[in-house]
Amino acid sequence: MAFELPRLPYGYDALEPVIDAQTMEIHHTKHHQMYVDKLNKALEGHEEHAPDTIEEILCRINDVPEDIRTAVRNHGGGHANHSLFWELLCPIDDRDLEAEKQAKHTLEKVLTLNFGSLDAFKTQFEDAATTHFGSGWAWFVKKPSGKLAVYSKPNQDSPLMDGDTPLLGLDVWEHAYYLKYQNRRPDYIEAWWNLVNWKKVAELWKAAA
Ligand code: MN
Repeated sequence: MAFELPRLPYGYDALEPVIDAQTMEIHHTKHHQMYVDKLNKALEGHEEHAPDTIEEILCRINDVPEDIRTAVRNHGGGHANHSLFWELLCPIDDRDLEAEKQAKHTLEKVLTLNFGSLDAFKTQFEDAATTHFGSGWAWFVKKPSGKLAVYSKPNQDSPLMDGDTPLLGLDVWEHAYYLKYQNRRPDYIEAWWNLVNWKKVAELWKAAA
């Protein structure tokens, strides 16, 4: 019943040189594990309120009993956000180039319609990630109206809490990049584009349609 830390679909060193192995290992085994542990601890004794998935809990965060709502928001959000984040990354050497080309082609049409161009989308996403003050995430989401949007959210808040479906997310907490990039968050963001798993983004977009 308890939530578990998901295995990474690649090794800790697989995202080098963009994200170094030490950062990946600490991020997964310490930070993500802590969100899982604290989420499980918060839900202890509240089994009757526990739906099947963390996504279902976050979609109805206001139904979570008030005494554990903040803990579930922070640690449940952390668990969901990181589980998605790992899947949205793909080692540079490990790509299905044909599938990625098709996914990018599909997304480019959609992004051009919504943002004017692929570059305009990327600029908007980078702005959200760069200018977010403090810990948080940049998000590309599908809204219930069907409209696509880019924004940032603080801490471990999930777009699911606003009824939006996350399609791409970037962790801009310092723990995600500080060992390698220190204060140079824009360099981390620019390099991260090389790891984006566009096939996964296209799948999420299709599933949200
Ligand atoms: Mn993180």
